[in-house]
Amino acid sequence: MARGQRWMAQGTEIFFDALATLPDDRLEGPTRLAGWSGKHLLAHLAANADALVNLAYWARTGEERPMYASREQRDADIEAGAKSPASELRAWAVRSAATLEERLGELDERQWSREVRTAQGRTVAATEIPWMRAREVMVHAVDLDAGVEFGDLPDGFLAALIDDITAKRSAAAERALTLTATDHDGTWTIPGSGEPAQVTGALADLAAYLSGRRPHGVTGADGGPAPELPRWL
Ligand code: ZN
Repeated sequence: MARGQRWMAQGTEIFFDALATLPDDRLEGPTRLAGWSGKHLLAHLAANADALVNLAYWARTGEERPMYASREQRDADIEAGAKSPASELRAWAVRSAATLEERLGELDERQWSREVRTAQGRTVAATEIPWMRAREVMVHAVDLDAGVEFGDLPDGFLAALIDDITAKRSAAAERALTLTATDHDGTWTIPGSGEPAQVTGALADLAAYLSGRRPHGVTGADGGPAPELPRWL
């Protein structure tokens, strides 16, 4: 099994295990994502699986089927979904995750290599779909605020996540950064404006920092705070 598929399966399990510990009334409350309740997060995760099912269809048939009709439609669907009863949202999340796994399981080698387009407009091979899903379920499992932390996610996934965000942030030409992990063999550089700011921390904390989550545990030059980063994902 390719690592993307393995992480998608692991992340799905981590997410649903965390979700199972949250009673329905907690889903009305805030998550770690500003402005989003647990229900928003659940609606987003379910809609994300449906959107990736569209990409799996595209890969299988060659017939273009975008993830979302538009950015506005995506956001409107999350808002509408967040008003649904918790039991419906839970069922939608489970059903859509199962459908995605099933549809991906139907792809043959040629279909896996077919190019599809992400919601951000990037053209990628269908082999990227499980990775896109892994990122969502793993990172949002932390956002649920149900006891999962970045440190609970697999090291290999965290390193791949840092690679991924580093590449995206490099393309966005933000400020230059050099990241050094204290507990893992790895240094990452984001080219950008100015002298690169040095940021140091454990792998899990660097992943949290880069993805725009709670930046504790990372330090900047001379042990001071690391520069603030714009939001990602
Ligand atoms: Zn997301």
